[in-house]
Amino acid sequence: MAEKSAKEAASSLDFIRTIIEEDIKVNKNDGRVHTRFPPEPNGYLHIGHAKSICLNFGLAREYKGLCNLRFDDTNPTKEEVEYVDSIKEDIRWLGFDWKDREYYASDYFETLYGYAIQLIKAGKAYVDDLSADEIREFRGTLTEPGKESPFRNRSIQENLDLFERMRAGEFPDGARTLRAKIDMASGNLNMRDPVMYRILRASHHRTGNDWCIYATYDWAHGQSDSIEGITHSICTLEFEGHRPLYNWFIEQLGIFPSRQIEFARLNLSYTVISKRKLLQLVEEGQVSGWDDPRMPTISGMRRRGYTPEAIRDFCDRIGVAKRESTVDIALLEHCLREDLNRRAQRVMAVLRPIRLVIDNYPEDKLEMLEAVNNPEDESMGTRKVPFSRILYIEREDFREDPPKKYFRLAPGREVRLKHAYYVTCKNVIEDDNTGEIVEVHCTYDPETRGGWAKDGRRVKGTLHWVSADHAIDVEVRLYDHLFTLEDSSNVTEGTDFKDYLNPRSLETLTDCKMEPSLKDAAPGDRFQFLRQGYFCADADSTKEKLVFNRTVSLRDTWAKIEKALKTKG
Ligand code: ATP
Ligand code: MG
Repeated sequence: MAEKSAKEAASSLDFIRTIIEEDIKVNKNDGRVHTRFPPEPNGYLHIGHAKSICLNFGLAREYKGLCNLRFDDTNPTKEEVEYVDSIKEDIRWLGFDWKDREYYASDYFETLYGYAIQLIKAGKAYVDDLSADEIREFRGTLTEPGKESPFRNRSIQENLDLFERMRAGEFPDGARTLRAKIDMASGNLNMRDPVMYRILRASHHRTGNDWCIYATYDWAHGQSDSIEGITHSICTLEFEGHRPLYNWFIEQLGIFPSRQIEFARLNLSYTVISKRKLLQLVEEGQVSGWDDPRMPTISGMRRRGYTPEAIRDFCDRIGVAKRESTVDIALLEHCLREDLNRRAQRVMAVLRPIRLVIDNYPEDKLEMLEAVNNPEDESMGTRKVPFSRILYIEREDFREDPPKKYFRLAPGREVRLKHAYYVTCKNVIEDDNTGEIVEVHCTYDPETRGGWAKDGRRVKGTLHWVSADHAIDVEVRLYDHLFTLEDSSNVTEGTDFKDYLNPRSLETLTDCKMEPSLKDAAPGDRFQFLRQGYFCADADSTKEKLVFNRTVSLRDTWAKIEKALKTKG
């Protein structure tokens, strides 16, 4: 991450850092900064969560504070251990560490129960016999006040008795709830006697069958922050309307007042970011799993070849704001290219091969030519690449009838083979039946070894290639956006987000040829295939059958956008 000068940093403080610095200045909470990342373990983390993780852990790091990992596991029916494990793996991979501060809202079930008793005793909570549907009916609307439940004015004694019996399992699921007694006429619907507990016989991933009443998210979340002494409780905008409720609970209970600050969630073009929707894609088999390389999940991006550095850089650049917006996915890809450009070894792979025969190159000759591993970083050294009479080049790098500005190979045309020689196309061989070109015949100039002519003559095209006898066969998977819709909030009425799945989001090429230096590539290894983009060996890749994902192509639309913005001034 780029170091900012103190002055620069001071002038570019976002609204969250401004709040934190003001709190520190007045020595609020003894100047302590303690944040948390609070995932609900009901799905895998996505790029939106990365924003929240970078923010919460980043603030703790910047202000020498702490950041907890807390699983908000109040909903036993949707939560699984698999999700807990994947969330921990993803946060670590992103480069953050919660040390021993791994907490669960379920650890606080007993404390929360005690708090509920406290509210009942203070006459601030009551047991309601209305059904879920009736509660909804009684709730009113934004324009009409709600109606009070006929059970609202039970005695404290009766409430205590009923609540204890709820816990003891005397009543069937859904028969009763515990509700906060606030104000059924409040302009804020969250304040209209929200439900704190429901009866639900479901096994919880941590507490098993200990409980048959479960705290709602609204009842558990703020108190969990308070129990952990969280100073700045950062969440997304949809919780703005819940803040008065959380503050009300804190005041009634007289517990540590965490300060909630809301920011706009990340939306990304051509991407759906919502666990619920991503789960649908997984369950319906629209993708191969949570870690499908097309998914905007951290695990999908990792498998695709994204680096944690690129994701952190992206989160840094987008910053935090109070207003919803959609970030161009080209920016994320730009951050990725910048990082991979620095670190990825360049290699040669031919994705759609056609044979190229050098007629004047001896049949039994083999040369090992030197190739630079990364022109951006000399310390990455060089390697040897075998060169021989029969090579493969990209089919699209030869045209019998080259259009204007096509500088690659064509009859009579001379081009450079990267790291090797200049070759000139002499003729082609066509398939007798189909007329398709099956072989391109060339001659080479021995005076151009290394790819530079001694007489100084220049060529306009440079092609990548592999030696046919030495190449290894690999499978390559090319990806496009998973969705065709730029802004997912623009789903037309009557259609579903899945109607916008891109049918061409995955293209599998099974006949690719790669230079032999890649034969030991292991899943997760990243390379730049010259002229084709950045690639990463997939989890499916084995020694017997290498499989590569294209992480991102080389074309950088964001760099263009930036340049255009700059020239505009
Ligand atoms: P989703 O809407 O995808 O189901 P969620 O908000 O229900 O996500 P949680 O597990 O509750 O998922 O989220 C954990 C934390 O991550 C919360 O603090 C939440 O505000 C934050 N978060 C979730 N999605 C985004 C997003 N798109 N941008 C920024 N932060 C997000
Ligand atoms: Mg949530």
